[in-house]
Amino acid sequence: MITMLGNQEGTPLLEVNNLSVAYGKVEALSNFNMRVNQGQIVSVVGPNGAGKTTLLSAIMGVLGSKGHVDFDGHVEQCPQVEQMVIRGLGLVPEKRELFGTMSIEDNLMLGAFQRYRQRDKEIFSTLDEVYDIFPRLKERRSQQAGTLSGGERQMLAVGRALMAKPKLLMLDEPSLGLAPLITREIFKVIDQLRGHGVSILLVEQNARAALKLADYAYVLEMGELSMEGRGSDLVEDPRIIESYLGINSKHQDVLAI
Ligand code: ATP
Repeated sequence: MITMLGNQEGTPLLEVNNLSVAYGKVEALSNFNMRVNQGQIVSVVGPNGAGKTTLLSAIMGVLGSKGHVDFDGHVEQCPQVEQMVIRGLGLVPEKRELFGTMSIEDNLMLGAFQRYRQRDKEIFSTLDEVYDIFPRLKERRSQQAGTLSGGERQMLAVGRALMAKPKLLMLDEPSLGLAPLITREIFKVIDQLRGHGVSILLVEQNARAALKLADYAYVLEMGELSMEGRGSDLVEDPRIIESYLGINSKHQDVLAI
């Protein structure tokens, strides 16, 4: 196995211990362990059906699970979504889940709903920050979200999650359905988010882009951890190249951009 450092260098923000999820009798995630340190970009890569979405849903508390999720010093046996949001966990789901008939700005403001309830006065300065990161959203602020292109929709989904001021942002397949150029733009923004104090947990089938970006990465196969290591080491590893990155890779659905 490649560099088994276990991502121990740094201050932990998220620790997942022996996390398991079953759909009926079928276990989709088995005793999974991982860690994201403050300021890190961590990727989880794996083929279709490996359990990546299941992992994020369990961490967020959308799905029941066995094991422990330790986020920002609070250990949860079964995370509750609302608590996780208040503590600073954000999720951009694979399906984006935007409100198509509402304007871009209203979609963004909905991301700050919990902060609004807590009478947070800084919401509009976060809106300005989001518009700085995504000037295209600012230009189209009154436009209906349903009229946006795929890339713009992804930007809006990320922007809406940022409105909650997350400490850790989890992104489920941000490149799904996007052209390579747009994907590159989205990955550039993800890289920049570190500068805004946001740590990232990125789940991707696009293994090359996700590994290149990641400080540390985990490979998930059939619900189990199969490899882990620094992103820069994994992208050079012959087993990863053979399975995920090469022309004759086993998983043709993860062809690189
Ligand atoms: P993809 O990249 O295709 O989105 P994934 O790695 O995110 O895949 P999951 O969506 O987590 O994988 O699915 C893991 C396994 O759990 C798959 O075998 C899937 O069929 C199964 N599964 C997911 N959701 C359910 C559900 N609601 N009920 C039953 N089985 C499910």
